[in-house]
Amino acid sequence: MRVRELQEPPYTIVGDVPRFSRKMTAFARPSGGKSEGKRQPSKPKDVAAIIAEGRDGYSRMDYAVQNAARTMAATMGHLAYSWERLEGARGSKGELAEPPPHEPEDAAAFTEQIKEAAQLYGADAVGVCELDRRWLYADEDVPAERQVPADIDKAIVMAVAMDRQRISESPTARAAGATGNGYSRMAFTAVCVAELLRNLGWRALPCGNDTALSIPLAIDAGLGEMGRNGSLIHPELGPCLRLCKVFTDAPLVPGKPVEFGVREQCEKCTMCADQCEASAISRDEMTAEPVCPSNNRGVLKWPLNADLCLRFWRANGTGCADCISACPYTPKR
Ligand code: SF4
Ligand code: SF4
Repeated sequence: MRVRELQEPPYTIVGDVPRFSRKMTAFARPSGGKSEGKRQPSKPKDVAAIIAEGRDGYSRMDYAVQNAARTMAATMGHLAYSWERLEGARGSKGELAEPPPHEPEDAAAFTEQIKEAAQLYGADAVGVCELDRRWLYADEDVPAERQVPADIDKAIVMAVAMDRQRISESPTARAAGATGNGYSRMAFTAVCVAELLRNLGWRALPCGNDTALSIPLAIDAGLGEMGRNGSLIHPELGPCLRLCKVFTDAPLVPGKPVEFGVREQCEKCTMCADQCEASAISRDEMTAEPVCPSNNRGVLKWPLNADLCLRFWRANGTGCADCISACPYTPKR
């Protein structure tokens, strides 16, 4: 696979790109899944009944592992996704009480040091981009403590790989254990990177899926391209990853976006759409028009019908990653 660096991100903007409302993301919409068809029930299936069916991958143990895997995301995300330092994080050995900003002599070397630390904290891929504010959620929907001031100009975007063996067992609760674990690793990694930057005297906001659209930021930061399945596809990790980011004013050097043929591959491949039991993945040409209220407009892509997707999740009694496991870019074990 040849990975080419680009001067501009490999997506096509069509007209205006209004900042997307966080309230319109699929999980935030209380009516999510009700605006499309009647193929799937709109209420979650009773997990106890699913466990009683005794199917492989849906045991009580599988659900327990899945739920425990999300522990750090469920606790740390609420606690730590803000501009404030964590209680207890300050004052450890070697840290100044009120650190002035660390001004590196060599910004490129400093950027590599931050990336190396991000990998220490669990990132499997790291990129930096100038912050394109079109990808921030509309301010009115973001809590004040997570809004991004105008002088914050960089995003560090990080990918954490998900366990491929478990993802290959999608759509079971066993596979969802890998997803939940990814969410917890996102929280750990982003919060540690933010604390590192704050220790060096810079402002930093760690984020999971909140505050901004992760995929265009990841593309801008050179982590990959977007596929038909609506996921970021990384040259080595494929779509078998989760994304987190840190917004900062630290003097980092942005990377370049990349291209390695995903668009051409997806134009002739429908393996994710074939595998999707919800028929949520487009088989049509790319478009900038939404197919459900949870799509942002203005960027040419294969829009994913999040309503149909989530209806399947509810019927399934857990999440789904069939479109990740089916993708030829997902590394084999
Ligand atoms: S997660 Fe599952 S239901 Fe949703 S789009 Fe992917 S394959 Fe379809
Ligand atoms: S399965 Fe095929 S069409 Fe779908 S994202 Fe992967 S390469 Fe693209």
